[in-house]
Amino acid sequence: MIDQQIKAAVRDIADFPKPGIIFKDITTILKDPKLCEGIVDAFVEQLQGTRIDAIAGVESRGFLFGLTLATKLGVPFIPVRKAGKLPYTIRQKKYDLEYGTATIEMHTDAFEPGSHILLHDDLLATGGTVNAASELIKEMGGVIAGFSFVVGLGFLNGKERIAPISNKIVVLAE
Ligand code: 5GP
Repeated sequence: MIDQQIKAAVRDIADFPKPGIIFKDITTILKDPKLCEGIVDAFVEQLQGTRIDAIAGVESRGFLFGLTLATKLGVPFIPVRKAGKLPYTIRQKKYDLEYGTATIEMHTDAFEPGSHILLHDDLLATGGTVNAASELIKEMGGVIAGFSFVVGLGFLNGKERIAPISNKIVVLAE
């Protein structure tokens, strides 16, 4: 099963980026093209029947499978970037981190109002990042079609946090 394959491939890195944190390193997945193909196919299968006009992927690991999935589904890919990276006119959203704040940005012409946008990231932890991205998309007139993640850290209750936004939440391995 794809969840077992993902779990076997992901590497735990202790004390990264700070002491006490166990970081899930997904670069080990990227070394296995068959697994990458299986991940995209699993997303396609689990998203069948969901209207998706575009996929927004969160910088930077959300770009990896986000673009591949968008290409497979034949829909545009939209980069959601950290502050100061996008060259055209932008809209931004500030959100709280455990310590301090972060800002995400999108181009103002990223999608047409009324578009159904799937939000994608590599990993769901607290849900704070995709929550902020979904607020930005909604402020720009988009509809959240759902969420997709390769890995979910169930003990941080991210799913519960984002369920009120859309109940279409695909997490391949948790
Ligand atoms: P959240 O906003 O859900 O708390 O955190 C998720 C965001 O932080 C994602 O953009 C994800 O890439 C990153 N992130 C947090 N912890 C990890 C981790 O252990 N591994 C990876 N690959 N990304 C993480």
